[in-house]
Amino acid sequence: TLAEPSNFLRQIIDHDLASGAYQNRTNRDGQAIPSIITRFPPEPNGYLHIGHAKSICLNFGLAADYNNQAGGARCNMRLDDTNPVKEDIEYADSILDAVKWLGFDWGTHLYHASDYFDRLYEFAEILIQNDKAYVDSQSADDIHTNRGNFGQAGKNSPYRDRTPDESLALFREMRDGKYKDGEHVLRLKIDMAHPNIVMRDPVVYRIRHTDHHRTGSKWCIYPLYDFTHCISDALENVSHSICTLEFENNRPLYDWIIASLAELGIFKSPVPHQYEFARLNLTYTITSKRKLLQLVEEKHVDGWDDPRMPTIVGIRRRGYTPESIRLFCERIGVSKADSWIDMSTLDQALRDDLEAKAPRATAVLKPLKLVIENFDASASEACSAPRHPQHPEWGNREFHFTKELWIEEDDFMQEPVKGFFRLYPPVGDLAGGRVRLRHGFVIECTGFEVDAHGKVIQVNATHFPDSKSGTPGSNNYKVKGNIHWVSAAEAVPAQLRLYDHLFNDPHPDSGDKNFLDAINPHSKQTITAYLEPCMKDVKAEDRFQFERHGYFVADQSESKPGQPVFNRTVGLKDSWK
Ligand code: ATP
Ligand code: MG
Ligand code: MG
Repeated sequence: TLAEPSNFLRQIIDHDLASGAYQNRTNRDGQAIPSIITRFPPEPNGYLHIGHAKSICLNFGLAADYNNQAGGARCNMRLDDTNPVKEDIEYADSILDAVKWLGFDWGTHLYHASDYFDRLYEFAEILIQNDKAYVDSQSADDIHTNRGNFGQAGKNSPYRDRTPDESLALFREMRDGKYKDGEHVLRLKIDMAHPNIVMRDPVVYRIRHTDHHRTGSKWCIYPLYDFTHCISDALENVSHSICTLEFENNRPLYDWIIASLAELGIFKSPVPHQYEFARLNLTYTITSKRKLLQLVEEKHVDGWDDPRMPTIVGIRRRGYTPESIRLFCERIGVSKADSWIDMSTLDQALRDDLEAKAPRATAVLKPLKLVIENFDASASEACSAPRHPQHPEWGNREFHFTKELWIEEDDFMQEPVKGFFRLYPPVGDLAGGRVRLRHGFVIECTGFEVDAHGKVIQVNATHFPDSKSGTPGSNNYKVKGNIHWVSAAEAVPAQLRLYDHLFNDPHPDSGDKNFLDAINPHSKQTITAYLEPCMKDVKAEDRFQFERHGYFVADQSESKPGQPVFNRTVGLKDSWK
């Protein structure tokens, strides 16, 4: 079930396909290429997050969809790695893992923008030679000031009228390392009075004496995003370059660069076009790489893959499935207007994915001892339950009913409130509460014991030997309560991490709020729970529905055979309201 974005982008693509302009496309070497090519171009300066998942599902989803049509389609995976300062191999590897984990495949089409450094440089020289770019030697401050403001024209640089030869010589010296960082930049010669400030002679190259993680010390000048991105798209024959709305103002520049190079015969029609969609904003979380980095570095969370993080590695560790993320992206759709998506939409996608897929299991989260007075201490009764109610072919799980059991603390009330149909003690002539112990016997509460502080530490009950689930006698008992339990003799202790939102505020970083102020100090709770015996040897990343509690996953790195560790992915119901 790949994302099927029936949205404005599909209409654009359908229209473009119908025009015939994208038929029988060839690359610069004359080889046939698909009609539709999209790309996913993250900068390897951090881990991908749920917002990127939207872009991944959109770009790869469109490609998968249109690949079934005449002309075909594909999505390129491109690491936009032209900034040497903040980028890292660790990030690049994790990005590729995340895209694969989400279920997408770029085949042989993995590209690095840094592979285009030679071409980008060559095109820069061509633009200089054609008087469309010049070397500016103003200070960064002067460049900034002279750009002007909205509604007020900028001022031409005193270096703007350098001859192409002069600029070219300087640009080559910049490349050859003759100047220090910031001494010169390369700017496009567009229009310092342009109403769109982005078009006021944008800087496209700057000097940075820094090694790059892929090209080493080969370059000391690096191209900027606006220059790199459109040219990378064109070199890869991207047809539809889809990005988030904040790049809308940059689109005229994208078009200017591509059109200028097309006029010079470097690119041919159809050239790539940029289209913008609204980024994903999810409540109770943040999706800015910079802020996520801060959470990690200042140890507000336990690393990038902390299950409370909105990173792909975090949500994976939390137990979300790739299918649930794709379903989520499909449901939220793609629009041109910014909005907030409620976190519960993501949770619901997981429930809808796992309801039919996750085996059921029993876990007692807040254990309270239950003693069956009329059951022999040395006896045990074999019981079983289906692994999944809709999948009898998955077989049963086996466990035993014994004298001492664990039940949930909340399934007993010393003084029951109205409508409480579980366990409570007898009072006077009134009998104690009667419940069915799921897949076991019907029991009736006979009393309870407290410790020195008055805390209930044990519940007593009698069981009805002819009431066992699955036997004819079981029909004679009509009870309103149905609770889960595990035998104290065979319970498997397990560490469970119960997570809550990382932030208390649905919009932790909007306006001038400091997102750190909204951190929820109670977002992680670790407890020891008792699991049914078959849970002893779960494998990392096995997922279960713990009945009455929610969906849990065996932790990817800390769960060990015999010592399970589980993360609660989501509860069974939306409890955030
Ligand atoms: P950040 O602002 O957090 O650093 P970014 O936009 O700079 O993120 P990139 O690595 O450049 O991150 O993103 C790669 C692609 O993912 C871009 O096309 C970008 O538009 C898209 N993207 C990033 N964040 C979101 C989001 N919240 N929703 C949808 N798409 C997103
Ligand atoms: Mg970016
Ligand atoms: Mg950004």
